[in-house]
Amino acid sequence: MSFKKKYPVENLINENEEDVFKIIDKILVEEKDVCLCPDCMMDVAAIALNNLEPHYRVFLVRPVHRDSELIVRRLRKVEEAVRNALSIVKKKPPSQYIKFIAPVAQLDRAPASGAGFAGSSSPPGRTN
Ligand SMILES: [Zn+2]
Repeated sequence: MSFKKKYPVENLINENEEDVFKIIDKILVEEKDVCLCPDCMMDVAAIALNNLEPHYRVFLVRPVHRDSELIVRRLRKVEEAVRNALSIVKKKPPSQYIKFIAPVAQLDRAPASGAGFAGSSSPPGRTN
């Protein structure tokens, strides 16, 4: 039996993930020039989370005393990661590269006719 079937992995919570979502909500109240489409919003969350250390706890296990100074510092890092991710997505929205990825997905369903990824190089990469 696999680990996921054997143990309650749904009780493993990445606190940074929860806080990224909360902080995105908070920032979107003040930010007005952000595209709210699912592609952009998921990209913001993914970029922010990829730039943060995971911070896991087991759902039912609560630390006896939590160092509020550490929590404040961690939340500051999360907010910084979200603001950085938002500025990256604003400058380069995912719609700019998703259109390059789509033909590849269509090729999977197309009959093998030799119609390749005609004359293009790889999709523009993103660095962050
Ligand atoms: Zn968008």
